[in-house]
Amino acid sequence: MSCYQKVEWTITPKSAPKVIRSCPKCGEKTHYINSTKFRVNANGKNIDVWLIYNCSKCKSKWNMTIHERTNSKDIDPEKYQCYIKNDKDLAHQIGFDPVFHKRNHSELVYDSMEFDIFVSKAECNDTARHLQEITIRCPLSLNLRLDKLLADHMRISRSKLLKTLSEDLPLKKKIKDGMIFLLPSDY
Ligand SMILES: [Zn+2]
Repeated sequence: MSCYQKVEWTITPKSAPKVIRSCPKCGEKTHYINSTKFRVNANGKNIDVWLIYNCSKCKSKWNMTIHERTNSKDIDPEKYQCYIKNDKDLAHQIGFDPVFHKRNHSELVYDSMEFDIFVSKAECNDTARHLQEITIRCPLSLNLRLDKLLADHMRISRSKLLKTLSEDLPLKKKIKDGMIFLLPSDY
């Protein structure tokens, strides 16, 4: 029988990752920011959809391709409405999707990305439990290592974290939805 306090950590990023690109106007590589706005172009049956990024220095636009000359029948009507209405949630979600970024050859920057952790504990009457079993809930691909997450959550440095935690923890692994690990219950 398991004797761990069950805890869920839901990780919600506060912003989408930036993209590094050569900006033609700035003449150097700059960070591009997800504007959370779409551009839709309908030409007969063919639809083009882009997600607009802006250079953080000069605001120049870069359009990331989402659909290219796609038959309107092949686009989910609900999603199409989201593109038209500049649905922020969808723009945010696409900003994290490695599939679109790979297709567009865009390089993502996750530095300085902030996130919230919502902690929910299952009912537990047994106060003698010394370990808590944490399950990560995080449907987006955050490219975030477990040691970084824990150091941020505990507000301590990564070196201090390494001294206090068990070596069995997969600290160098990137967090994934459904990942499970054990922590002392006083953390
Ligand atoms: Zn620029």
